[in-house]
Amino acid sequence: MAIRRKVLLLGSTGSIGTSALKVAEDIPERMEIVGLAAARSVEALVEQVRKTGVKQVALTDEAAAAKARPLLPSDVTLHVGSQGLVDLVRASDADMVLVAIVGVAGLAPALAAIEEGKHLAVASKEILVMAGEAVMEAARRKGVKILPVDSEHNAIFQCLEGQRSSDVRRLLITASGGPFRQLPADQLPQVTVAQALKHPTWSMGRKITIDSATLFNKGLEMIEARWLFDVPMSQIEVVVHPQSIVHSMVEFMDHSVIAQLSHSDMCFPIQYAVTWPDRVPNNLRPLDFAKLASLHFEAPRTQDFPALDLARHAGEVGGTLPAVLNAANEVAVEAFLSERTSFPAIWQTVARVMEKHQVIQHPDLGTLIEADAWARREATI
Ligand code: NDP
Repeated sequence: MAIRRKVLLLGSTGSIGTSALKVAEDIPERMEIVGLAAARSVEALVEQVRKTGVKQVALTDEAAAAKARPLLPSDVTLHVGSQGLVDLVRASDADMVLVAIVGVAGLAPALAAIEEGKHLAVASKEILVMAGEAVMEAARRKGVKILPVDSEHNAIFQCLEGQRSSDVRRLLITASGGPFRQLPADQLPQVTVAQALKHPTWSMGRKITIDSATLFNKGLEMIEARWLFDVPMSQIEVVVHPQSIVHSMVEFMDHSVIAQLSHSDMCFPIQYAVTWPDRVPNNLRPLDFAKLASLHFEAPRTQDFPALDLARHAGEVGGTLPAVLNAANEVAVEAFLSERTSFPAIWQTVARVMEKHQVIQHPDLGTLIEADAWARREATI
């Protein structure tokens, strides 16, 4: 019998969150939203509660929660603060938690979901970048499935189905190349926030859009893939594909390559993470190959965009270094978005902080949180 997943949606008012709500409307027989969480978007959250009828919600911002309380129906439980996210996970009757919060705030609720035996659909790449080893180990111990929502990882997940892991030669992660794919290197210091926020193929939140422009997004994805698929960094490569139709590929020992294709709409990977292992009809736009003019591929400009090499190094060294890269990048992106620093200063800051860091191997959660805090202090501009 087909399973109707009860999904708790963390980050419901964001780009992934609103796409997930669309998927739930599209396939209601397979997906029910049973809880919602955001940081401070009161009106959007109250409207989502009205539409979905959920009884459990969280707002991490205390002032926003105080504003929301009188606007919510009296039978809705509102959890508050970052602990509120963990409380919501524990109180919810969801069988799957979709984590779509920006940054590391999703880590504690993700670990709580695993402890509760709830499956995890992961959009927030920071969770696996920061604590991939601990998260995958906890999931194995609890018999919980980690389903990738990020389109590249969801694609690789699909390409690997029915395959033996010993037959995998390379994971090929595709990258749009971002808005500056063809911009000469000497013009990168003049790039403005508005230019960096114009992504050529995807409409996403601000942080990930800047990460796409620096290529840190691809760097984070390489580390995420390393943990999700238990593949060494040396077997993970990035291929630039400006049309964002091929979402990633896997090359096998016989040099055959399997790819996954669709339009660039996050509803595709969200739906598959929720309905896996089933394929379910929907109202999403199918590909029309006669209308796809061409699919183009090229090598990334690693010299001009150092994020990829920095992330490869962090993934190879492991321990606390990926958490440090991630935290330094978050701080530097914020500084760029508030026009306190230049575009190249993002990777220069990350490189400087990584260089200074004393790596600790096999860190526990407390050590990771300390490394994250240390990197944030060091990166502050
Ligand atoms: P958005 O900025 O659009 O949305 C973020 C969501 O998280 C909002 O609901 C926001 O609430 C909430 N949020 C932010 N901080 C906190 C916090 N500390 N506690 C609780 N809730 C919080 O981001 P995206 O949807 O673009 O991205 C979400 C995650 O998914 C990121 O990790 C990103 O890397 C990943 N991802 C996104 C893709 C995309 O297409 N957008 C593709 C693949 C991965 P509020 O509205 O109140 O601020």
